Amino acid sequence: MRIVIAQMQHETNTFSPVPTPWEAFGNDGPFLGQAAYDAMKGTRLPMAAFIDLAEAAGAHIVTPLAAWANPSGPVDGNAYDRIRDIICEAVGQGCDAVLLDLHGAMVVADRTDDGEGTLLERIRAMAPRTPIAVSLDLHANVTERMVRNCNVIAGYKTYPHVDQYEAGQLAGSVLLRMLEGRCRPVMAWGNRPLLAHTLCENTGERPMKDFVAAARAAEAEGLLAATAFGGFQQADIHDAGISVVTVADADAEQAQRACDRILDVAWNLKEEFIYQGEPLSQALARAKKMADESGGPILLLDHADNCASGATQDTMYVLREALRVGLTGIGVGPVRDPDAVAQMIRAGVGARITLKIGGRMDMPAIRREGEPLELTGVVRAITDGEYTITGPQFHGMRCYMGRTAALDTGAAEIVVTEKNQEPWDRGVFTSVGIDPTRKRFLLLKSRMYFRPVFLPIAKGHVFCDSFGVGMSDWTQFEYRKLRRPIYPLDAFAAGHR
Ligand SMILES: [Zn+2]
Repeated sequence: MRIVIAQMQHETNTFSPVPTPWEAFGNDGPFLGQAAYDAMKGTRLPMAAFIDLAEAAGAHIVTPLAAWANPSGPVDGNAYDRIRDIICEAVGQGCDAVLLDLHGAMVVADRTDDGEGTLLERIRAMAPRTPIAVSLDLHANVTERMVRNCNVIAGYKTYPHVDQYEAGQLAGSVLLRMLEGRCRPVMAWGNRPLLAHTLCENTGERPMKDFVAAARAAEAEGLLAATAFGGFQQADIHDAGISVVTVADADAEQAQRACDRILDVAWNLKEEFIYQGEPLSQALARAKKMADESGGPILLLDHADNCASGATQDTMYVLREALRVGLTGIGVGPVRDPDAVAQMIRAGVGARITLKIGGRMDMPAIRREGEPLELTGVVRAITDGEYTITGPQFHGMRCYMGRTAALDTGAAEIVVTEKNQEPWDRGVFTSVGIDPTRKRFLLLKSRMYFRPVFLPIAKGHVFCDSFGVGMSDWTQFEYRKLRRPIYPLDAFAAGHR
């Protein structure tokens, strides 16, 4: 038995100015062949589960490619063609099954708004009878084309995502049972016109908790798989938003009934999927009061500039306002600005310098030009930006922030990096000698992943609304391709389904 296993993962923010070339994937390009196997084997990612399942089944494994890139703007067309062709070439050499670890929200410049559906359609045309299983991210914008061109889909059921391996295991094991003739998967797919806010998709709380629970209940009642997708909304494509995929054994009606039932749970909670913000000055005043009463650190969450949503990670609005209102003891990190890093390296550790930080990228989608912040401070540290995660998520993973420097302005200590880096771990601070537990405030460009890492050391947290291509105010984005009407951009009469 020969099984092709590959990964193609990108969450495309169509409003993001951050480019996504071939080099954005993997380590300066996707991992190919044996390197793809080595990079994935032993991780907690879906592709690792596929490899483990196939090895346990005694199959001959082919791993043409593993391609993961940080969320950013549309994928370069030539990069997509190469990725697609490498996977298709492996399928074209003949195989008994295909297991794909996909995201489900890839948009490709000048090619397609549905990178995954287009890939699957191509594979299906080449190998019409070869079973195909797919794992997807909880933030997939699932399309009818994806569902039509594979046999099994299962997605993550947690956000923050801690069950990626399990999603791969579920999709892969159903497919292997299908190969043995022990089941006959049939899928149903559907969506509701709901553009939820990812800030309201923490699976530990309502409403997402209830949405996912409905999917789990369907599995407990006998479905082969059921997934509640939150969707990725900073994407101007027709099918962005909430959706559900169910997989039943031979019974298409059972799959459809369950799909509708799970979707109704989300629709009935639609108001709760909408984040209610507050003016930045009010949020910072609240944060100051919290620190006065209980000490620090208080987390200042600059969620609009979260690079894990495709943001530039270099806006300075929140820090500028925090300094203006007189907050002190702020740890900031990381801000991406290769030019500022180079200036600090030239100045050297201990040097006092005045420089502009951040605001290097314009954001035409929200009609904003980059606005750097001029600061004066002492360069406290210069590092290669490498550290190993010691915290609960992605434990043991090596992180590469590029050359990194820390500037101390007195009121704030700012970690500046060459590359985008989600604050996955306290290592973003400790690797440059900053102890985050001793700060009064921690300004994090984070949306969800601060929870397992920084909440345990925090005395409180405040969402600080500002501008960035990851912002949650949908009215700032010009949607042209998105299906309408859709909630909350459009009103719906009571009782609408
Ligand atoms: Zn996700």
